[in-house]
Amino acid sequence: MKRFIGKIEESQAIIEGEELNHLRNVLRLTVGDEVIVVNGDGCDYVCQITKIDKNIAKLSVKSKKNNKNNAKNQISLFISAIKREKLELVVQKAVEQGIKNLYIFESQFSTMKLKGEKLVRYQKIIESATKQCERADFMKIELLSFSQMLEKFAAHKTRLFANEREGEEFDFASLKSAKDIAILVGCEGGFSAEEKQQILQTKPENISLGTRILRAETAAILLAGIASLFSGN
Ligand code: SAH
Repeated sequence: MKRFIGKIEESQAIIEGEELNHLRNVLRLTVGDEVIVVNGDGCDYVCQITKIDKNIAKLSVKSKKNNKNNAKNQISLFISAIKREKLELVVQKAVEQGIKNLYIFESQFSTMKLKGEKLVRYQKIIESATKQCERADFMKIELLSFSQMLEKFAAHKTRLFANEREGEEFDFASLKSAKDIAILVGCEGGFSAEEKQQILQTKPENISLGTRILRAETAAILLAGIASLFSGN
């Protein structure tokens, strides 16, 4: 059954905008067809189309089902602001890996300045990836300053700091029962010595992903995948 992002209002679902265009003009679905509507609350709503016009499709909710692909564990990915296209890739892949929260923060060497208006674009990517990987919960995304990042990172139980050149080998199998994991990755230029010191003061696992220096987005996607798989997310 095809999946759409929409609004749920009691026993009725509403699909508008680009989602409506896809339903009506691309897939050419009509009254009577059944689809799954997702509104980000973690459930799949099985719905039947009752009315379609130019600006809106209305559907009746037939049943509400739990979705097994939602983020199960609390895994937060913290990444310093990298170039726009790379960051967009990380947003998409983080959703696919079942990440619950994505935090983008500014650091001394980050080239990109964080702008709130970018969140609209990121939300679109989140919604599209949510449909593609068949989740029904929306990954949360937030922009942070470096000090806000440190505070949030320190609050997680298991803290994984990807530290090229100075990190140590880590036994990823130890993540088996971890339910509250934070992953921290720097931008293209990495972290300054002062920033590294502040991060290390939160007593994270100081992790090497091998002797090769990876692109920030590679390190983020790799570590998010490892943490997700090993923790049974
Ligand atoms: N400019 C830095 C590289 C930064 S790589 C240098 O040349 O030293 C960008 C980020 O990816 C880093 O901050 C780190 O978090 C992560 N990363 C890249 N390669 C890594 C590795 N081999 N082990 C652990 N983390 C790595």
